[in-house]
Amino acid sequence: MLSTLTSAAEVAGLVKDEEAALKLLVDEGVLTLDRICKNCGSPMALRKRKNTFEFRCRKSRKADCSTEGLRKNSWFSNTRIPLKDALMIIVLWINKYTSKQIVKETKLSPSTVVDFRNYLRNGCSEIVKKYEVIGGQGKVVQIDESAVHTRKYGRGEKQRELTWILGAIEDGSRKCMMQIVPNRTKAVMVPLIRSWIDGQSEVHTDCHKSYGTLSRYFSAHRTVNHNEEFKKVMSDGTIVHTNTIESLWKRVKQPLKEGNGTSESLLPSYLDEIIVREREGDRFASRIWKFIKDFKP
Ligand SMILES: [Zn+2]
Repeated sequence: MLSTLTSAAEVAGLVKDEEAALKLLVDEGVLTLDRICKNCGSPMALRKRKNTFEFRCRKSRKADCSTEGLRKNSWFSNTRIPLKDALMIIVLWINKYTSKQIVKETKLSPSTVVDFRNYLRNGCSEIVKKYEVIGGQGKVVQIDESAVHTRKYGRGEKQRELTWILGAIEDGSRKCMMQIVPNRTKAVMVPLIRSWIDGQSEVHTDCHKSYGTLSRYFSAHRTVNHNEEFKKVMSDGTIVHTNTIESLWKRVKQPLKEGNGTSESLLPSYLDEIIVREREGDRFASRIWKFIKDFKP
């Protein structure tokens, strides 16, 4: 249900107020109403308190019995905005609304929306950490590096910098990995490549010298020299190119162009969001909701 929501109008129609948001999140198993008092073991009851909800022990007249916030131990414990607004932002972010559009729909402040989106993107970073290696026997993985312009703020001055990203993508799928690298040396790139890609894969790269030792770690390493050609047909019929990763770079850079770049500090989670969107495809929304549901602070 939650993962099928695609527009602001749908959410607004379904979630009229805070109670409706709570009911939906409980029905979907994102929040739970089962609480036991830590002091006496009695079931706790949910009460509305001002704009929020809290659990109270049914025997709470006893001094040691306490109250507990609804959001405790849930993904929502790290945010204070109303559940109704949180639900709206999550759905709109999943469906690629811009921050500006989300501000317009929720009437929250731009900084609140930006912070909340960052919180969601940090979730993507957690999801990426648990992904298995890409490639495998009979699979080709393309590897490449690309530079993006980032902003760095220091002493009140806006500085534009060039940041390098190393990436790898499995041919014929959207399973990819990307990470910022401080430089393009062998010492930096090879360990990352090995941590991402199954050693039984065949890897394709351009002729950058840092890729020189990859044949030691993978079943095959083929290169295409971009100064001479963009595609090479080997004697066994294998076509060596890096088009798949070139098109990934386009998908990475297009939103950065439209959004006037990103700050260097936000780039890692921005890349992780793309990795999760690429890998999950149509399952992206359900993956995010599963993450929120399973979250343990
Ligand atoms: Zn109690």
